[in-house]
Amino acid sequence: MQDPELELKENILETVSQCMNCRFCLPACPLFEITENSVSGGASGITRALYWMVKWDEKDKATLTEMRDLLYACTTCGNCEVACANLSTGVKLVDAIEAGREWLIEKMIGPMPEQKALLEHSERYGNPYGMLPTDRKEWMKGLGVPQFDTGAGHEMMLYVGCTAPHDPLVGNMARAIVGVLKAAGVSFGIAEDEICCASPSKRVGESFLFEDLSVKNIEQFKAMGVKHIVTLSPHCYNTYANEYPEDQMADIKVQHYTQFFADLIDEGRLVLKNPVNSKVTYHDPCYLGRHNDVYDAPRKVLSSIPGIEFIEFERCRENSLCCGGGGGRMWSDFEVEQDRMANIRVRDAVSMGVNTIVTACPFCLINMEDGIKSVNVEDKIAAKDLAQLVLESVA
Ligand code: SF4
Ligand code: SF4
Repeated sequence: MQDPELELKENILETVSQCMNCRFCLPACPLFEITENSVSGGASGITRALYWMVKWDEKDKATLTEMRDLLYACTTCGNCEVACANLSTGVKLVDAIEAGREWLIEKMIGPMPEQKALLEHSERYGNPYGMLPTDRKEWMKGLGVPQFDTGAGHEMMLYVGCTAPHDPLVGNMARAIVGVLKAAGVSFGIAEDEICCASPSKRVGESFLFEDLSVKNIEQFKAMGVKHIVTLSPHCYNTYANEYPEDQMADIKVQHYTQFFADLIDEGRLVLKNPVNSKVTYHDPCYLGRHNDVYDAPRKVLSSIPGIEFIEFERCRENSLCCGGGGGRMWSDFEVEQDRMANIRVRDAVSMGVNTIVTACPFCLINMEDGIKSVNVEDKIAAKDLAQLVLESVA
């Protein structure tokens, strides 16, 4: 059996050696944009640094720490991959960067100091925020949704995720989704003792913890007879749809809630009748859009709401600008950055004259809300989750 560290090293070198250093990915990288085009060297800078670090099997702690800061600044937004696929050799940069983080964890240099708690909490409590399982269970009960039960005829399980019980803003998002599902007459349940899908652990490179949590989740889904999961977060959706072992998930259909809502509209089960008179734009979450090509379902839902005036961001769909919250960055802060991605997004939205930024992701919602406060435009614009607008239209 091959040494896991050597295997990791070979994988990184194999991926990164496909880079021709053409730098077409450079302007696509939001880090390059927010660090005044200098500090990070953008996607191609990270790629070259990663290549030489692994090739030389770097051991100097100061160099490795510098490298850590560079690698963990990446939001894993995938915009560099789109640029590279369209213009160059199609390097899978996000895979390489995440493998580089795994390598740094093996060397006991990663993750970022502030991210250590997310791993400890995930291991000890089954969620990255350190909520006591009993408190979380109480919160889940307060949602007013029964425990998933095939015997009760539940057609799907709503996977709420960890951020809703932790953050009131996202708690409202969860309640809106539940309200819409009930209005559409969907028979569904939740797992009151839900545990983390392990996306945050994987993003920061903790592959052993990811495996441990994925085994626990799969066991739970099988024990409950789950055949259809609808997630609140694009991050959980991506993890279940793409990162859990394919053979273990073969019998389980996984959807993001925007896809499920779009299906309900197509089937005539979800009827949006009340006008919502708002001028809105839609912010594509990276893990729904770029990582999974889900661009049309949220737009279809949005366009089904009467009264909505919709304007696209100039940077939308596969060119959308990241909110800054992916890749484990909800648990870290990078002071070298001169601007925040969400602030740029908010300023763009204000200049378009819309009054609402709509999104469909807990992290995007939190970041857009923070961006609105930080840009000081609370009197001009609001951030809402798509489900909240849908609920206004059905209620
Ligand atoms: S576009 Fe692709 S090949 Fe060119 S520098 Fe970026 S990663 Fe390398
Ligand atoms: S994934 Fe996004 S943030 Fe990371 S290097 Fe690529 S473009 Fe930059």
